[in-house]
Order: sequence, then structure tokens, then C-alpha cells
Amino acid sequence: MKHVLDFNLEELKLEMLTLGEKKFRAEQILDALFLGKEIDKANLGKELIELLKTNYLINSTKIIKTQTDPIDHTRKFLFQFADGEVAEGVLMSYKYGNTFCLSTQVGCNMACSFCASTIGGKKRDITTGEMLEMIILANCEAKTMPIVGVDVSSIHEDEEDDGDPVGVAPKGNPQRFIKNLVLMGSGEPLDNYHNVVKFIRNLMASKLNFGARSISLSTCGLVPQIYALAEENLPITLSISLHATTDENRKKIMPIAHKYELVELIMSLKNYVKKTGRRVAVEYTLVKGVNDTDGDAKRLKALLGDIVCFVNIITLNDVGRGVNGTTRQEAYHFVEKLKKAGVNATLRRTLGQNIDAACGQLRNKHTKES
Ligand code: SAH
Repeated sequence: MKHVLDFNLEELKLEMLTLGEKKFRAEQILDALFLGKEIDKANLGKELIELLKTNYLINSTKIIKTQTDPIDHTRKFLFQFADGEVAEGVLMSYKYGNTFCLSTQVGCNMACSFCASTIGGKKRDITTGEMLEMIILANCEAKTMPIVGVDVSSIHEDEEDDGDPVGVAPKGNPQRFIKNLVLMGSGEPLDNYHNVVKFIRNLMASKLNFGARSISLSTCGLVPQIYALAEENLPITLSISLHATTDENRKKIMPIAHKYELVELIMSLKNYVKKTGRRVAVEYTLVKGVNDTDGDAKRLKALLGDIVCFVNIITLNDVGRGVNGTTRQEAYHFVEKLKKAGVNATLRRTLGQNIDAACGQLRNKHTKES
């Protein structure tokens, strides 16, 4: 059965006509669902509600577990879909508002050596409707996120500030309590291309009114899809998981490097910047002795030299895969080296350390337990 949120407005209007309903019902249905209403409580009339429930999946995604970090209030959710599969999402409170990190696949096929999501491979893609239901549920949760006055003197933020105060729905969006959406949970979004692009378009067209600038998509570097995304007229922020400065090293930790060389990847990023006018975010997770040397800092500068980008240095979250991370102190020095070399780099803040917040950890635990 299709999910009612798999359709965009125009498609849902056609669905309504085939069901013998009026076209305008489509808009009412979408508005109610995006605002987090349960269909049974929506003001749509008993008959239409029954018709929808018999023809489509609707309100079928549930939060089955929530873990809250007692220190920074980060909330990690385990969502369950109609077929029983589960995926994670994380809600974080930043100085500039809440950020939600969304999964795009159940499991992942990319096999990065340091990542928990890929253990066991990909189970299936997450559909457009399921991704939308996750963000709708998270938006309802975000209403009750405590306002965290983060001390920014000791951290580096990688998000843009448009002046909206913390914990308050952004200007002009009284129903939206998530400021930024990052597609950085489990899965490779560009390996689920059509569902993900439709999800972004439907979200942007919805009552939650997300702008492209508040959405980031992170990829391990599927080059043909990066070119395709540049043509979608969706100027979202592209985050690229680079994690190495030589092909040889990248192959050691990211199997995708066997398929696309760094030069090809860099070309696709330059094209993305040219076509969208957006800076690219480069993610660089430090693995001790593999990608954190002086030589790496120099090569990073050379590699990214003429790309409009900023670099997020990430310290490895130990997920028990035998890969050693660089310490936070050493990471800080690495960032300083990059800055001296003229690279726009920051050290990403770590949130949710106490609640298995790295991608895939909670799902793996759940799978083991059941
Ligand atoms: N498939 C996408 C999204 C995955 S997760 C991608 O590869 O970009 C988002 C980021 O977290 C990626 O940069 C990923 O490499 C990184 N990551 C995964 N596991 C990690 C870990 N254990 N510690 C630190 N970063 C990790």
C-alpha cells in the first residue's frame, strides 16, 4: 500500500478524484498531517477518514523509543514503520534552534569502516512518506525541547544564524519547531535518490515551510547523483564525507573510493557550487594515524583550494568497530593547522554522547535485543 504522504499535492488531488472526492480535500489532508494531527482527529469527516485509512498507509510511523541526554538534552528516537523495520532520528538543540538528523535508509550498503549504520548492510530504502512522518513526529517533539543557552565561546558552530531566537519557531513559521534538517542519519541519501528528492520537495511545499537553506544532505560521494542533484533546482547544502586526502587512504576506510576517485569527486563538487551558488560542507572524521597527519592538513588545503566550502572536522564516535579516533585535543590542533593554512575549518561539537547518538547505534541495539 502507498503512503498518503508519498504523493505531492497535485498527485493527491488526482487520487482524491479517483476516490470520488473533491480535489480540495488533498490540501486539507496534507495540512492536517504536516501539522502533526492524527487522521482520526482531523476535521475531514468520518467518511473521508475511513476512505483514506483503507486506501493508504497513514500515521503508520511510530516512535517506539526515546533516549534523552541528561546533559545537553539531545533526544534520540527509534522510529518503527508499518512493516516493523526501524530507523533512528536525532533532535539536537543548538544555539540557533533545533536541528533534526534524519535517516534515509534502513541500514546502509556503503560499508564505511568506522560507521555503525552499515553493519548488516541495507535492509531497504525509506520511502518519501516515511521520511515525512519522521520529521512531522520530530517537529511535534521539538515543541517541548528545552531552551539551551549553549556557551559558544568554547565551540565552533557550523550553522548559519539568521537571528531567530532559540526554542522558538522561526519567523513566519509558527508551526515549525525544527530550524535545520540534516540528512545525516543512517543510510546514503543519494542511494535513495528519488524518494529523498521528492521528500525534500514535499517538505518545502508543506505547511512546515522549510527553505532549501535549512536543509543539508550528506553523502559519501556518489558522483553521478551529485551531478544530478545540481540540476534539481534545489539549492540545499551538500555535505560531502571526504574523510581522506589520498585515494589510497580513502579506500582503506570508505569502499566507495574504489568506485570514484578524489579528482572526479572534487569536479562534481565544483559543479554543484557553480550550479547552485551554495557553499559545500566538507565532513572530515579524524581516524588516528590514518588521516590526521601534517601531510593530510597540507593535502586538504591543496585539494579544496579553489572550492567554495567550509570544513567540519569531526571526532570519531567509537562504535566498537576497532577504528581509533583522534583525541579532541589533537583534533583541535588539526583544525588550527588548517586555519593557518587558510582553510575555513571548524571542530564540530559533539552532542548526545550519553545516548548512543552515532548513526545506527540504537537500531543495532534494538535488533540485538529483539
Ligand atoms: N551516508 C551519508 C550520511 C551518513 S552519516 C554520508 O556518508 O555522508 C553522516 C556523517 O557521519 C558522515 O560524514 C559519516 O561518515 C559520519 N560518521 C559515521 N559514523 C561515524 C562515527 N562513528 N564517528 C564519526 N562520524 C561518523
